[in-house]
Amino acid sequence: MAKKTRGRGSGRIKLRPAPKGREVDSAAHADVVRLLGDRPRRADLLIEHLHLFQDAFGHLSAPHMTALAFEMGMVPAEVYEVASFYHHFDIVKEGESPPPGLTIRVCESISCHLTGAGTLQRSLEKLGLDDVRVIPAPCVGRCDRAPVAVVGRNPVDHATPERVQAIAARGGGEPAVPDAIAYDEYRKSGGYATLAACVEGRRTVDDVLAELEASGLRGLGGAGFPTFRKIGFVRNEPAPRIVVVNADGGEPGTFKDRHVMETDPHRMLEGMLIAAWLVEAEDAYIYLRDEYAAARVLLEREIAALVADPPCALPRIHMRRGAGAYICGEESSLIESLEGKRGEPRLRPPFPAQFGAFGRPTLMNNVETLFWFRDILEHGGEAFASRGTAGRKGVRYFSVSGRVKKPGVYLAPNGVTTRQLVDEHAGGMLPGHTLYGFLPGGASGGILPASLADDPLDFDVLAKHGAFIGSAAIVVLSDQDRAADAAHNLMHFFAHESCGKCTPCRVGCTKSEQLMAQPKWDVPLLEELAVCMMDASICGLGQAAPNPMRSVVRFFPQELGG
Ligand code: SF4
Repeated sequence: MAKKTRGRGSGRIKLRPAPKGREVDSAAHADVVRLLGDRPRRADLLIEHLHLFQDAFGHLSAPHMTALAFEMGMVPAEVYEVASFYHHFDIVKEGESPPPGLTIRVCESISCHLTGAGTLQRSLEKLGLDDVRVIPAPCVGRCDRAPVAVVGRNPVDHATPERVQAIAARGGGEPAVPDAIAYDEYRKSGGYATLAACVEGRRTVDDVLAELEASGLRGLGGAGFPTFRKIGFVRNEPAPRIVVVNADGGEPGTFKDRHVMETDPHRMLEGMLIAAWLVEAEDAYIYLRDEYAAARVLLEREIAALVADPPCALPRIHMRRGAGAYICGEESSLIESLEGKRGEPRLRPPFPAQFGAFGRPTLMNNVETLFWFRDILEHGGEAFASRGTAGRKGVRYFSVSGRVKKPGVYLAPNGVTTRQLVDEHAGGMLPGHTLYGFLPGGASGGILPASLADDPLDFDVLAKHGAFIGSAAIVVLSDQDRAADAAHNLMHFFAHESCGKCTPCRVGCTKSEQLMAQPKWDVPLLEELAVCMMDASICGLGQAAPNPMRSVVRFFPQELGG
């Protein structure tokens, strides 16, 4: 290992024996020491540390990255390769100018696209605001309030150029912390009693797993794997084990996890702690989307209250902040990111249940999946299962956005139909709009025509139409929209978010987007690409990216002129 010593008088820190690369600037190093304070210098905290610099300076300069590498005992290339992976880090190389002091991100994903995000962005650019840049951004998880612009860290719902300009003039400011059920209130309503009963031996693992099995609860982040079985897989692996909450679901059209965390955070935390007890984990991690800045402040506050007055013995709880990469919602990518690396999916096997975060068997669950644990264990798995309809089990939250009168998060039984969600929950279609089609599962789940709006929405039932429900992000299209335009928007998203690790996805998404931008699609070529992407991509992003395009060919041929 290279011995590192400080030089004198030159303003530089000499490294001996001289490694390849830059010398460490002493002023930059002083910034590193000041910002890191007494935080550990472990490599898995690299992304957390990079956030400190991005927040403090608005960008990551070459001298700061070199000095950070020195301080953490890494080589600069390691720091650069991680920083350059994430959209929320602005790297400024030597000789380059830093970005303007304030960034406005205009969400360009499907629900905001339908409500004029493009016009909003152009209007903001035309304003020519001083020391401000306006950039497009993938889904920020507020699709019920479209269009949305995020000024600094502060989201502006139903954004207009005037309102965004006014907030930008104040420097953006911080997002308001949501008025959620706080720790004391949660405890008073019986919260954490179930956890305490588990930890104190009044409930058994077998009893809890039996209730979860009876409930029919499946992963609500997208994959839909039976929850009790996933826990069983991890329990079968040797300790020590880890629990991770996947709070990084960034599927366009999905905002129910944010809703859950911002209204009743302890219900999710109690589920996480019960999961940790089930697999005897001593560490529980919450990996949260960087877009959810308000939820982060809220969770940090509420976790502090929980830890200060615990209802029973707790595992160590760690918060981790994403940095703007949709792919980190994928289980193995999230694990890589948790370890401070680029969020690229791992090849399987081994599966995360066997070899997950830090090499340990890892139980990873979606926010909403954990949210239902308390309800299931208090009232029984059968009671939860009986809340389903049309032969399905249980309830879940649906994110409904697009051309409906009241976009929002709605609790509905598994087996509900799109038409019921639109008419009975979301207030019906907007005046002057007629239901034309819908996305049953966000960007990845395909696009279905109105004629299928009476089919039950559930994990399996949509498969025969080449669609899936995923995280239950229902985006409603009307007769004033084109499914082909929506599919192009979604492919643009995938091209932006492809991690680039494998060629079929990296090249396939970009090429497909170019083809779909043409007035007339070359369908045979698009289909050839789709087969290659679906067969040969490493992870679900590349495998699912062609779904919306294929849906258009299958269900909306009238739009393709032939
Ligand atoms: Fe990355 Fe796409 Fe390959 Fe997944 S399919 S590993 S996102 S390039």
